[in-house]
Amino acid sequence: MNPRTLAIALPLLFACSIAIAQPAAKGDGVQVSNPSVLRKLIPAERLEHTATEQYQQLTAGARRQGALAPANHPQVMRLRAIAERIIKHAPRFNPDATSWKWEVNLIGSKQINAFCMPGGKIAFYTGILETLRLTDDEVAIVMGHEVAHALREHSRERLAKNSITRFGTAIVGAVISGGRYADVINQAGSLATLKFSRDNETDADVVGLDLAARAGFDPRAGVTLWRKMTTASKNAPPQFLSTHPTGPNRIKEIERHLAEVMPLYERSRGSESR
Ligand SMILES: [Zn+2]
Repeated sequence: MNPRTLAIALPLLFACSIAIAQPAAKGDGVQVSNPSVLRKLIPAERLEHTATEQYQQLTAGARRQGALAPANHPQVMRLRAIAERIIKHAPRFNPDATSWKWEVNLIGSKQINAFCMPGGKIAFYTGILETLRLTDDEVAIVMGHEVAHALREHSRERLAKNSITRFGTAIVGAVISGGRYADVINQAGSLATLKFSRDNETDADVVGLDLAARAGFDPRAGVTLWRKMTTASKNAPPQFLSTHPTGPNRIKEIERHLAEVMPLYERSRGSESR
């Protein structure tokens, strides 16, 4: 399908490095800091509204071109089954996720790409499933990572940070209190070339591992996934890597967190077999 259509989805696929070091006590699994309070400058409901509009444009465009896989497509059913298991654990990282209108779609495109927009709008491209020959565990790692970006509100943080950089705190406050949310979001939405920061990528990796493991998917697939991604990037850099830089450090970081999430996986597997 037309890459320009696909590009509509990209503006919200970014993140930033604002993080307040307040450990959120959550018991077992990974420990993550609380999201930045700065993100509150951007109203979540407006951002989710914009994300929904962009997602609808993307899926409608794909449908017109015959590139939107139908609900009875085996790979769509597979993606939705995996999503259902992951989403069950989403409120652990963002209580608002219980009211999100989650959607999962598959778009026919050679792109090695996947995303989850604010508010739970997930899309996978056939390219990532087919070129990387992803196992269910690896699909869950990709999905967990993308869902983590949405749950941890990395886009919202980025918009807030960009707005402050551009307008200053006082003006951003005035704009927002004046009700011109759309202006702030639309202006930031044009910054399609922004990439995820390393901090937010690590955060999404760690939270994604936790989600996948709780859902009963093997978190060690994080290592095989990123090895596949690295190999694929030697031919032509996958779209996914333009926003998700890979490398040995990323794999090392994932390996470092395996000890925290393997017990979740084993517990989930145990409860399934009972
Ligand atoms: Zn990412």
